[in-house]
Amino acid sequence: MKLILTIEVEDIKKIMIKYKLICVDCNLSFDSWFASSKEYDKLKKKNFLNCHNCNSLRVEKTLMSPSILKTKNNQIKISHVKKYKNIKKTLKEYKKFIKNNFKYVGENFVNEARSIHYNKKKIKKGIYGSASKEDIKELREEGIETETIPWFEDKSN
Ligand SMILES: [Zn+2]
Repeated sequence: MKLILTIEVEDIKKIMIKYKLICVDCNLSFDSWFASSKEYDKLKKKNFLNCHNCNSLRVEKTLMSPSILKTKNNQIKISHVKKYKNIKKTLKEYKKFIKNNFKYVGENFVNEARSIHYNKKKIKKGIYGSASKEDIKELREEGIETETIPWFEDKSN
């Protein structure tokens, strides 16, 4: 049995929203970024929002329309987002399993997959590596089935 896996390095984009906040006590206005409008409400409710100047908790959102920032996942700090952490944990375990059970061939994935297919090369472990969507399509046309899974780039790993 041969197992061939492709990994897809996803550039997961996260949308952040910027609100202009104003302190009712000292009148200071400042910008703050949130993962969503719900996050703002949540932080506000839990009294996690305070004025940078006088520490007052009476900080309000101004009526200005929020700006939106699209950033790469690994460039932003995400706090108070439990869901995100759970997904990351699952993907990490996923990754660990693949690392232990498959051989990493990196950019050579397409060549390696073909050599296994055509030369009937005997392999103990399946392989994984990166391939473009076009490569995967070509492989499929040649009768080489691959699985594509999302991959999490993790610098701490
Ligand atoms: Zn203040």
